[in-house]
Amino acid sequence: MLMDFSSMSLEQFHVHFPTEFACVDYLFHTRWPAGFQCPRCSHPQAYVTTTRRLPLYECGHCHFQISLTSGTIMEGSRTELRKWLTALFLVSRKDKGTTAVELSNIIQVTYKTAWLILHKIRSTIHNSDILTPLTGAICVNSAVYGRPYNPTVNKHPKEHLLLIASSLNEDDDSTSLKIKHIIPTNPKVKHISRSDIITFQNEQIDIAAYSIDIVTGFYTPKRLRPLLKFTKQASQWINDTFHGIGAKHLQIYLDEFCFRFNLSSRNLPLFPCLIERCFRLS
Ligand SMILES: [Zn+2]
Repeated sequence: MLMDFSSMSLEQFHVHFPTEFACVDYLFHTRWPAGFQCPRCSHPQAYVTTTRRLPLYECGHCHFQISLTSGTIMEGSRTELRKWLTALFLVSRKDKGTTAVELSNIIQVTYKTAWLILHKIRSTIHNSDILTPLTGAICVNSAVYGRPYNPTVNKHPKEHLLLIASSLNEDDDSTSLKIKHIIPTNPKVKHISRSDIITFQNEQIDIAAYSIDIVTGFYTPKRLRPLLKFTKQASQWINDTFHGIGAKHLQIYLDEFCFRFNLSSRNLPLFPCLIERCFRLS
C-alpha cells in the first residue's frame, strides 16, 4: 500500500522529506520500484552521474541517458524537487488544496513560479481526467457554476453551464465524477444543446457503458438531484479555496475537484496517485 501523506501537517511532511536527497530517493523508487530500468532497452543497470543538480542515469547496455525527471512535469524546472513535492503535498491535502499565493509563501518562490507549478500539476490532473472515461451505469445532469440563483431562461454573464456525470454502483452511490464546463453557442441562453451532449458523451463516457440516463433541462422536475449536490460542493470548494474562478480556468479546477472525489471514493491516497500521474506512470 502506498503511503498517504494527505492528512499530515506540513511539518510532518517535511520530516519525511528533510533534504533534496530524500526527495531524489523517493522519486527514484516511485519511478523505478524494482530498480532502474532503461526506457529504451529495459536493461536493469545504469551508470549514475551525481555531479549535476539531479542525478543522470546512463544505461549500462545502450548508453541511453535519462535524468530522474525526464518526461515528467518537473523536467527542465530549476525549482528544487523538495519544493515540487511540497507543492504536490499541498495540492493533495484532504478537502483543501492550495493557491499560488499560499504556495509562493511556503516554498519561497515568486507568485509566477508558484502559479506555473500549480498550473502544471492541474494540467496533469486535467489530462488524466481526459484519459479516464466513465463506465458502467451513468447519469448525466446539467448544472450551473457561478451564480447561486437565477430562475430565468437567460444566462447571466457570470453563470457558467456545466454537465456533470457520474458512474453509479448498485446502491446508486456515485463512484466516479466528471464535471465539464459547456460553452453554449448562444452566450445569452441557458440551454445545453444536443450537439454539446453528444460531444460530452463521446469524450467522457466509455462506449462500453451499459446505461446512460441524461437529464439536461434546467427546469424539468426529472433533474437528478443527487448530482446537484456535487456541483454545489465543487462550487463551494472553488469559492472557498480560490475565491471564485472565471470562465478561462474553470475547467481545470472542476477537474481537480473530481480528481479528489474519485480517489477518495475508492480510498486511494491522493499524494502518491498524483506523483504517479506527474510521472506518467499510470
Ligand atoms: Zn538501454
